[in-house]
Amino acid sequence: MKAVVKYGLDDKNVELRDVPEPTIGPTDVLLEVQAAGVCGSDVEFWRQRITYPINVPVIQGHEFCGIIRETGSEVRDYRVGDRVVSETAAVICGVCEFCRSGEYNLCPDRKGFGYGVDGAFTRYVRVPQRCLHRIPEGVPFEHAALTEPIAVGYNALCVKSAIHPGETVVVLGPGPIGLFAAQIAKIHGARVIVCGLEVDRRRLQAAERIGFDAVINSERHDPVAAVLARTNGVGAPLVVDAAGANEAFAQAMQMVRRNGQITKIAWNAAPLNMSLDPLVAKAVRLQGTYSHTWRTWENVLRLLATGQINMTEMVTHVLPLTEWERAFEAAEQREAVKAILQPV
Ligand SMILES: [Zn+2]
Ligand SMILES: [Zn+2]
Repeated sequence: MKAVVKYGLDDKNVELRDVPEPTIGPTDVLLEVQAAGVCGSDVEFWRQRITYPINVPVIQGHEFCGIIRETGSEVRDYRVGDRVVSETAAVICGVCEFCRSGEYNLCPDRKGFGYGVDGAFTRYVRVPQRCLHRIPEGVPFEHAALTEPIAVGYNALCVKSAIHPGETVVVLGPGPIGLFAAQIAKIHGARVIVCGLEVDRRRLQAAERIGFDAVINSERHDPVAAVLARTNGVGAPLVVDAAGANEAFAQAMQMVRRNGQITKIAWNAAPLNMSLDPLVAKAVRLQGTYSHTWRTWENVLRLLATGQINMTEMVTHVLPLTEWERAFEAAEQREAVKAILQPV
């Protein structure tokens, strides 16, 4: 079968290869991939701009769904032919404090699809039963494949932050994670302000069409002034950093309300080049957020089933696997909001 394989640890060490089909263990299913999302991290792997270890060679792709074609002897509850989507934590230890308390996304031994074990930019993938969720009827594969990035937004906004209807939530960074996070805040009844840069203009246009309370090009309008102007000069109770750059974090500290919270989703390998004194002076909480767990996935799938998330503006590219490079480039150039690959 054809697969998008990262084979080395240099820039652009990724190619389409013929690889053997995987075999499954007793608690796994063999999933035939129907759709897989291209994540910002896939692009970072491709360009070798990541700081964490990757097991090469590895098949990329961790946002995926498909149809079960084979079940292991100990698999219960799932059958051949079921439409399912998979979580990303392909390997967890199962016995550490985090696994035992349901926080398995934080297991120190966690290995994810697409960098730790073979992922989904191919036809067949081996998936442990515990990763599976059923796709509700009426939700197409191209949407179900994006359950993962929506779950990142849900975890950031609804698990690691408190949103109150009517309050202002600012999302810095209109990438897919930022736009999904902003949509979750909107569903929650918040007044949502999305900020981005000139290079994000296509994504800012998508944000306009999705319909948030304000969409700000931070290179044309000072985002701090814009947020203060909309909040009686006191700032936003919740600022979500889905951008990552130091400048965005500096803005977050300036625009957050006293006693508010900054929730940080985006990574940034660069050291912080600023004082954190504003956090102290304003008594602001800084909250990191990473990944998601089972209940979040089920809730996100329910939101998809009831049509509460605008997916039309999010899925801008659906391409065959053979055109993976075009999809990666569209993501890197921020031309795509979200690109989906389909096996050939
Ligand atoms: Zn991702
Ligand atoms: Zn563990």
